[in-house]
Amino acid sequence: MDKTKYVKWYKIARDTINDESLTPFRADDEILDCVSEEDWLMFIPPDITRERAESLPEPNIYFYIRDDINRIGLTFNNVGSMDKIRNILLDYSSELKEILVEKLLKLDDRWKLSLNRKIKIKHFRNIPNFTRIFYINTNKIDNEKINKLFDLSTQIRKDGKIRREEERVKNDMWYSEVPSMDLMHIDIGLDEQEYKKRIIEAFDILKICLEVKSDTQIRKIQREEKKPVEVMKCPNCDNIFDYNTNRTVCGKIGCAGTELKKSKIPKVEYERLLKQDKIKS
Ligand SMILES: [Zn+2]
Repeated sequence: MDKTKYVKWYKIARDTINDESLTPFRADDEILDCVSEEDWLMFIPPDITRERAESLPEPNIYFYIRDDINRIGLTFNNVGSMDKIRNILLDYSSELKEILVEKLLKLDDRWKLSLNRKIKIKHFRNIPNFTRIFYINTNKIDNEKINKLFDLSTQIRKDGKIRREEERVKNDMWYSEVPSMDLMHIDIGLDEQEYKKRIIEAFDILKICLEVKSDTQIRKIQREEKKPVEVMKCPNCDNIFDYNTNRTVCGKIGCAGTELKKSKIPKVEYERLLKQDKIKS
């Protein structure tokens, strides 16, 4: 497999999308790291490895070049990301859903939506097998199809749990079966103009999908904000010093000789003080 064929296409996407958070600068060898062993390029946010990106509860855009077809897709390929798109699409009152559906309806007929069973056996690193069970033009999405889509995905998850247990008990084999959805994918020729047009359409939808946070993410952010950060504090006044400060006493008038003590403050508070330049070094 020749991974280098993707370098050019990553760079074209980067120039076209021009957003560091979506298509960050990568040296050629770093672009190669974004190509999976199954021969597809995954567009990954900055500072995340491909392995990590694959398990994050976020959709991602992929591109692959094969002898017969080349495909761009926006995929939700794990349980966490499926939960997220489910939260958007099943919330009838959500503004985000309205924006998303409106955009999807404007796509042309060449974009397809597919739901697949994604089955992996023996080891989570093994190459998955996909079986398509639902397929429509993305621009034909409506509430009825959305309900059908998530009923099917719930069923796949239930089936998956049962089979996982069966394989474990009967064959002592690791097994995973989960829903995986391409909200949109398109087969294209290897033509730069077409690629650019389609990659813009895909990232345009991805941006909307990334806006919604899952319940787990919201809880995680809240926990994160409360996490204690160690600092040095003057017990006499409100002066807070970096934990690694070389100082041992507070320098403020009225605090002469007051020794700094170890202390902890919530991360959110720490970051607020840091921004205001109130943490002394
Ligand atoms: Zn002080």
